Amino acid sequence: MTGPLPTHTLVLNASHEPLSVVPLRRAFTLVEAGKADLIESAGVLRSPSRTFDAPAVVRLARYVHVPYRRSTHAVRRVVLARDAYLCQYCGRGSRSLTVDHVVPRSRGGDTTWENVVAACVPCNRRKGARLPSEAGMRLLHRPLIPSRALLLCRGIRAIPTTWEPYLSPAR
Ligand SMILES: [Zn+2]
Repeated sequence: MTGPLPTHTLVLNASHEPLSVVPLRRAFTLVEAGKADLIESAGVLRSPSRTFDAPAVVRLARYVHVPYRRSTHAVRRVVLARDAYLCQYCGRGSRSLTVDHVVPRSRGGDTTWENVVAACVPCNRRKGARLPSEAGMRLLHRPLIPSRALLLCRGIRAIPTTWEPYLSPAR
């Protein structure tokens, strides 16, 4: 693998479900201590005496039970990833996507997963403080609560491609 090493590692539970995202150094410590197995390497780290695999994905040796609290408050970065970085009105990708409240805030719409979508600037302007039907616009997809896996990545700038096989199924 070429390019810079990622800064974070995806941690899978012993059951293979995505569990958390931790700094690479922390994941490395887990592997060295035998608490986690390396599943995917992001490349090689070198010290004067050894080479190490930089962990992209690790799996915990023992299952940990973590109660899952669904967050209802939508986070921009995750909304854009959920909507595949495409405007949910015109379907176009844009570098400057905004988050549109389907039911406008001025009409009581909340910043929840089911009420926000990625929208390009022209579509967001055109819609304004109206409902899509009032603006003669239609949503391409109904906005849904993202998967737990996608929620884990809310602090990550770019989701590494090595994580994708572990994140894609809705778990
Ligand atoms: Zn658009």
